[in-house]
Amino acid sequence: MIERLKTLYQLQLIDDQLDQLEELRGDLPVNVKILEEKIDHLEKTISEKKKEQKESLEKVKTNEKEIERFKENQKKFKSQLFQVRNNKEYDALTKEIDHIDDTIKKLTMEEDSVEESSKKLSADIEELVPILDDLKEELKERQSELKQIIKANEKEELKLREERSKIESKVKKTDVSIYLRIRKAKRGKGVASIKRGACSGCSNVVPAQRQLEIRRNNKMFTCEYCGRILISAEIAEDVEKN
Ligand SMILES: [Zn+2]
Repeated sequence: MIERLKTLYQLQLIDDQLDQLEELRGDLPVNVKILEEKIDHLEKTISEKKKEQKESLEKVKTNEKEIERFKENQKKFKSQLFQVRNNKEYDALTKEIDHIDDTIKKLTMEEDSVEESSKKLSADIEELVPILDDLKEELKERQSELKQIIKANEKEELKLREERSKIESKVKKTDVSIYLRIRKAKRGKGVASIKRGACSGCSNVVPAQRQLEIRRNNKMFTCEYCGRILISAEIAEDVEKN
C-alpha cells in the first residue's frame, strides 16, 4: 500500500511540473483557438456571399436574354400592325404589345434590384476580406509565439512525459482514474499531504484520529472536505527527497 501511495504522489509531482509548463503558455492556446474559429466563420460568410453574388450575376444575364427576346417579339408584332385587316386584329395586336411592355418593365425592375443586391454583396466582401487577412496575420503571430514557448521547453516536457508514463504504468488503473477524476475537479491537485495537521489541498484540519490512521500508510484516505487523496507527511517528504 505504501508504494501505491508513493507512486500516486510521484504522479502528482510530475503533473505539477507539467502544469507549470502549460501555464507558461498563458492564454495563447485559448487565443489561437478563438482566432481559428473566427477565421473559419468569416471564411464561410465570405464564400456564401460570393456564391450569392455569382447567382445574382447569372440571374441578371438570364433576365437580359429574356428582355432581348421579348423586344424581338414586340418588334415583330409592331410590324404586323401595318398589315391588319380589321379593328379586331388591331386591338388584339396592341393588347399583345402592351402586355410585352409590362413584362419588359417587370424584368428590368427585377434586374435593377438584383444588380443592387449584387453591389451590396460586393461591398460586403470588400469589407470582410481585409478583416480576414488581419485575423490570419494575427493567428500566424500567435501560433509562432506559442511554438517558440513549446520549443523552449520541449526537452523538459518530453523528459517529464517519459517519466510520467513510467510512473503511471506502476500505478493501479483504478487509482489512476480516481486520481485523474479528482485532479480534474480540483484544479490539478488530486493528491494532498498532511501539513501541520491540515490537508495541504484545502487547509482544513484533519482530525487527530484520522491523522493517526493515515500515518499507518496502509489504506487510501480522502480528505473529507475537498475529496483529495490524503497521504502522510512522511510519504510526501520521502517522495520529494527523491
Ligand atoms: Zn482537503
